[in-house]
Amino acid sequence: MSDRGGASRAEVSNYEIVTHYFDEAVDRLGIADDLAAVIKTSYREVQVQIPIRLGDGKIHVFSGYRVQHNGARGPYKGGVRFHPEVDLDEVRALASLMTWKTAIAGVPFGGAKGGVNVPTDVCNTDELERVARSFIDKVEKLLGPNRDIPAPDVGTNAQTMAWMMDEYGKLHGHTPACVTGKPIALEGSFGREAATGRGLVYLYEHVADELGLKPENTRVAVQGYGNVGSWAARILQDMGCKLVAVSDVTGAIRSDAGIDAHKLVEHVLEARGVVGFEGSEQIPPDDLLGVECELFIPAALGGMIHKSNADRLRAKLVIEGANSPTTPAADQILADSGVHVIPDVMANAGGVIVSYFEWVQNLQHFRWDEDEVNERLRKIIQRAYREVSEKAEERKLPLRAAAYELGIERVLEAALTRGYVHNG
Ligand code: GLU
Repeated sequence: MSDRGGASRAEVSNYEIVTHYFDEAVDRLGIADDLAAVIKTSYREVQVQIPIRLGDGKIHVFSGYRVQHNGARGPYKGGVRFHPEVDLDEVRALASLMTWKTAIAGVPFGGAKGGVNVPTDVCNTDELERVARSFIDKVEKLLGPNRDIPAPDVGTNAQTMAWMMDEYGKLHGHTPACVTGKPIALEGSFGREAATGRGLVYLYEHVADELGLKPENTRVAVQGYGNVGSWAARILQDMGCKLVAVSDVTGAIRSDAGIDAHKLVEHVLEARGVVGFEGSEQIPPDDLLGVECELFIPAALGGMIHKSNADRLRAKLVIEGANSPTTPAADQILADSGVHVIPDVMANAGGVIVSYFEWVQNLQHFRWDEDEVNERLRKIIQRAYREVSEKAEERKLPLRAAAYELGIERVLEAALTRGYVHNG
């Protein structure tokens, strides 16, 4: 359940957050306004109607979106989010974030995002399947292994991808490379489910020394215990770190003695939330940021670290599992207090990196074992970190600013070399 963790969220939208970091980078790079507009705006934005009869007997008309932001570096790539607050502005912001993310990671994709404003918590499996199939029916013409490849995001998972692949296959023939994040039984990649969380852990591993951290002295707090947060917590615990606080949509818990990340996953499946986990104490969700820890992982929705709570953060290191969890004002507060922030555009790239591996395997009708997937993921995500931190040092910038600059420069180079800008 990846969500706001019951805590307060900023009055700043994902769109404002992403646009702010983009505009600042473009200014610093001295890119002319007209050229900046080419890479700022989306290439294509589609909104579709998804009418579904729900258990109450009534037809509910949901809105589905697919935004293809930039395809200069390769086919459009990005997840599909099922969440009641999804709207065009949010999907647009998340699509552009994918453009910078794939460029920073150096995988040959553009950026896209999809979404449906469906409340997954009140829908049963059958209803969610109908939403997924109807969404694909309405956007299938935009998709395909060489055009645009959806994947899971908040509120969707491997099962959703299986329905989407099946629906696409009815129209185009069996095409496993048309979506990534599929179940293992349907040509999904080993390691894809855990990939975003594992990517965060590889970054922790990469910077731990520099920050004087060792697993045995690293206490971790995680905001959001969905796919990303729960996998990061499990892998960190297996390395020797201690999980001391967690929140999700139902509330927040803490335990100085440690919370077993694996058992918490089972508890969440049964109790539908983290609250009530044996041996833990329930705390107000807003207190999560104040828990003493070395590593804080936001893995819920955007805007969760904002100007009214950022100064409560006690961690040395923040690795952003969620997309745009930190508002610009909060980012400044964290920088002033010396917190090392590894920004979303690089930190949570593990998902799309292993999506790239899944796509490559599907195109070759070949499968790698999990160790190979994980080893390649480690190499790519740590390379991205090195490249961003070199730029940060050279240009005297924080990591986030350097990451945006790197992403923008790579996209711009591809767009100009291709001849995206028509002069005639
Ligand atoms: N939804 C994930 C993200 O935001 C994964 C996207 C993908 O694998 O295409 O990065």
